[in-house]
Amino acid sequence: MIKFGPSGFCEDFLAAGHKKSEELGDWLDEHNLDAFEVSFTNGINYGDEKCKLLGDMFREHNITVSVHAPYYINFANPDPTMIEKSIGYIINSLKKMKLLGAKCLVFHPGSLMKQTREEAHARVMQNLKLLLERLNQENFDFEYYICPETMGKHGQCGTVAEIAEMCSLDTRIIPTLDFGHINSFGLGNLKTEADYEEVFQILKSFIGDRYKKVHIHFTHIEYGPKGEVKHVKMEDNPQNFGPEFEPLAKVLKKLEITGEVISESPGHQTREAVYMKNTYNGK
Ligand SMILES: [Zn+2]
Repeated sequence: MIKFGPSGFCEDFLAAGHKKSEELGDWLDEHNLDAFEVSFTNGINYGDEKCKLLGDMFREHNITVSVHAPYYINFANPDPTMIEKSIGYIINSLKKMKLLGAKCLVFHPGSLMKQTREEAHARVMQNLKLLLERLNQENFDFEYYICPETMGKHGQCGTVAEIAEMCSLDTRIIPTLDFGHINSFGLGNLKTEADYEEVFQILKSFIGDRYKKVHIHFTHIEYGPKGEVKHVKMEDNPQNFGPEFEPLAKVLKKLEITGEVISESPGHQTREAVYMKNTYNGK
């Protein structure tokens, strides 16, 4: 089963006169959506009380919650003090996630800086092992997944194969498949059902049947020679950068994939999540 929802507040939520995150439960119900992603991308800026309040609301409305960790995380950084900071962002996000009732923590694994792709990836793998040791020490008493995301720019770590290898480190690591990013990195490589299936085949080759549980971001993204340029609304994509959701919807059904599909549209997150849910359900 796949759940669908928006990331953060969208234009439509605000245009309808809503201002507070406490109103999200009713908003998602109205749109028949069942997932939501809390964005800590610019910092972990919710206090514990707020997280508890939102956690109760999400539970009451049966919403599957995920969290996007800060953008500052970079497990490819050669500086050990910066790795400590990245580990801190993950641990502090997880503490809030327990209160929010969230299970999946999305994070960007790192950027190449001045290293080759291979060097940067090796460093990310090494530092994720360190992170896992620290998570063992923290001994969190709730079920969670840390979900490294496939990235769209050529200067970032996170090809499908790199993410799949990260997932092979531990059962607590599952992928965030951002198909807009994958398509931008590959300069428009996702077109047919076979193209989407290949992504899952790569995952399967690293983690076996665990590939069936994933977290997904789906947004149309403009790209250039170096990959991702910017997220665009589906209806505002005249150059047709894609990718298209229809073939993915078929593949998700065929392979019996479970998880959440989150829209990161710049403004139309709710209506695009509704569109994708309807497409998936054949409406
Ligand atoms: Zn992201």
